[in-house]
Amino acid sequence: VDCIFCKIAAGTLPAREFYRDDELLAIADIDPQAPLHLLVMPVKHYANIVELIDAGESALAARWLALASKLGAEGGGGAGFRLVVNTGANGGQTVDHLHLHVLAERALGWPPG
Ligand code: AMP
Ligand code: ZN
Repeated sequence: VDCIFCKIAAGTLPAREFYRDDELLAIADIDPQAPLHLLVMPVKHYANIVELIDAGESALAARWLALASKLGAEGGGGAGFRLVVNTGANGGQTVDHLHLHVLAERALGWPPG
Protein backbone atom coordinates (compact mmCIF):
# COMPACT_ATOMS: atom_id res chain seq x y z
CA VAL A 1 0.00 0.00 0.00
CA ASP A 2 1.29 3.46 -0.88
CA CYS A 3 0.41 5.10 2.42
CA ILE A 4 2.28 7.96 4.11
CA PHE A 5 1.37 6.85 7.63
CA CYS A 6 2.52 3.27 6.90
CA LYS A 7 5.83 4.80 5.78
CA ILE A 8 6.07 6.83 8.99
CA ALA A 9 5.19 3.72 11.01
CA ALA A 10 7.89 1.77 9.15
CA GLY A 11 10.42 4.55 9.74
CA THR A 12 10.99 5.29 6.05
CA LEU A 13 9.35 8.74 6.29
CA PRO A 14 10.35 11.05 9.15
CA ALA A 15 7.94 12.41 11.74
CA ARG A 16 8.04 13.92 15.21
CA GLU A 17 7.09 10.95 17.33
CA PHE A 18 5.42 11.38 20.72
CA TYR A 19 4.72 7.73 21.44
CA ARG A 20 5.44 4.37 19.86
CA ASP A 21 4.92 0.74 20.73
CA ASP A 22 4.33 -2.38 18.66
CA GLU A 23 0.71 -1.47 17.97
CA LEU A 24 0.36 2.30 18.30
CA LEU A 25 2.10 5.45 17.12
CA ALA A 26 1.54 9.13 17.99
CA ILE A 27 3.09 11.87 15.85
CA ALA A 28 2.85 15.63 15.53
CA ASP A 29 0.56 16.79 12.71
CA ILE A 30 2.60 18.45 9.96
CA ASP A 31 -0.01 21.23 9.64
CA PRO A 32 -1.07 21.83 13.25
CA GLN A 33 -4.53 23.32 13.89
CA ALA A 34 -3.82 23.93 17.59
CA PRO A 35 -0.66 24.44 19.68
CA LEU A 36 -0.84 20.71 20.40
CA HIS A 37 -2.01 18.65 17.42
CA LEU A 38 -1.13 14.97 17.51
CA LEU A 39 -2.20 12.06 15.32
CA VAL A 40 -2.62 8.75 17.13
CA MET A 41 -2.80 5.70 14.90
CA PRO A 42 -2.52 1.94 14.85
CA VAL A 43 0.77 0.81 13.29
CA LYS A 44 -1.24 -1.70 11.24
CA HIS A 45 -3.05 -0.18 8.28
CA TYR A 46 -6.79 0.29 8.65
CA ALA A 47 -8.32 2.69 6.15
CA ASN A 48 -10.78 4.11 8.66
CA ILE A 49 -12.57 3.45 11.94
CA VAL A 50 -15.21 1.26 10.27
CA GLU A 51 -12.47 -1.15 9.11
CA LEU A 52 -11.02 -1.35 12.61
CA ILE A 53 -14.39 -2.08 14.18
CA ASP A 54 -15.36 -4.54 11.45
CA ALA A 55 -12.06 -6.37 12.04
CA GLY A 56 -13.19 -7.01 15.61
CA GLU A 57 -10.12 -5.26 17.00
CA SER A 58 -11.83 -4.12 20.19
CA ALA A 59 -8.74 -4.42 22.41
CA LEU A 60 -6.68 -2.37 19.98
CA ALA A 61 -9.51 0.14 19.65
CA ALA A 62 -9.61 0.54 23.43
CA ARG A 63 -5.84 1.00 23.71
CA TRP A 64 -5.89 3.50 20.83
CA LEU A 65 -8.62 5.59 22.45
CA ALA A 66 -6.93 5.39 25.85
CA LEU A 67 -3.61 6.62 24.45
CA ALA A 68 -5.25 9.54 22.64
CA SER A 69 -7.17 10.48 25.78
CA LYS A 70 -4.03 10.30 27.92
CA LEU A 71 -2.04 12.47 25.50
CA GLY A 72 -4.91 14.96 25.28
CA ALA A 73 -5.32 15.13 29.05
CA GLU A 74 -1.59 15.65 29.52
CA GLY A 75 -1.28 18.23 26.75
CA GLY A 76 -4.51 19.96 27.69
CA GLY A 77 -3.22 20.55 31.19
CA GLY A 78 -6.67 20.31 32.74
CA ALA A 79 -8.18 22.85 30.35
CA GLY A 80 -9.56 20.18 28.04
CA PHE A 81 -8.90 18.84 24.58
CA ARG A 82 -10.66 17.38 21.56
CA LEU A 83 -10.44 13.98 19.84
CA VAL A 84 -11.56 13.77 16.21
CA VAL A 85 -11.77 10.90 13.71
CA ASN A 86 -12.52 12.25 10.25
CA THR A 87 -14.03 9.49 8.12
CA GLY A 88 -14.64 9.45 4.38
CA ALA A 89 -15.35 12.31 2.00
CA ASN A 90 -17.99 14.09 4.04
CA GLY A 91 -15.95 13.54 7.19
CA GLY A 92 -13.03 15.40 5.64
CA GLN A 93 -10.62 12.46 5.75
CA THR A 94 -7.52 13.13 3.62
CA VAL A 95 -5.20 10.29 4.70
CA ASP A 96 -6.72 6.82 4.45
CA HIS A 97 -4.82 5.34 7.39
CA LEU A 98 -6.91 5.47 10.54
CA HIS A 99 -5.86 8.21 12.96
CA LEU A 100 -7.26 10.15 15.88
CA HIS A 101 -6.58 13.88 15.97
CA VAL A 102 -5.70 15.14 19.45
CA LEU A 103 -6.20 18.91 19.64
CA ALA A 104 -5.32 20.90 22.75
CA GLU A 105 -3.87 24.09 24.22
CA ARG A 106 -6.42 26.50 22.76
CA ALA A 107 -10.18 26.98 22.94
CA LEU A 108 -11.72 25.22 19.93
CA GLY A 109 -14.83 26.36 18.09
CA TRP A 110 -18.01 24.35 17.65
CA PRO A 111 -19.78 23.37 15.44
CA PRO A 112 -17.14 22.28 12.89
CA GLY A 113 -17.21 23.77 9.39
P1 AMP B 1 -7.44 13.79 7.95
O1 AMP B 1 -7.70 14.95 7.04
O2 AMP B 1 -8.35 13.67 9.11
O3 AMP B 1 -7.30 12.51 7.16
O4 AMP B 1 -6.03 14.08 8.64
C1 AMP B 1 -4.81 13.92 7.98
C2 AMP B 1 -3.82 14.75 8.72
O5 AMP B 1 -2.51 14.29 8.40
C3 AMP B 1 -3.85 16.24 8.37
O6 AMP B 1 -4.12 17.00 9.54
C4 AMP B 1 -2.46 16.51 7.81
O7 AMP B 1 -1.95 17.77 8.20
C5 AMP B 1 -1.65 15.39 8.40
N1 AMP B 1 -0.47 14.97 7.66
C6 AMP B 1 -0.36 14.76 6.33
N2 AMP B 1 0.86 14.35 6.01
C7 AMP B 1 1.56 14.28 7.17
C8 AMP B 1 2.90 13.93 7.51
N3 AMP B 1 3.78 13.53 6.57
N4 AMP B 1 3.26 13.99 8.81
C9 AMP B 1 2.38 14.39 9.76
N5 AMP B 1 1.11 14.73 9.50
C10 AMP B 1 0.70 14.68 8.23
ZN1 ZN C 1 -1.24 2.93 6.11
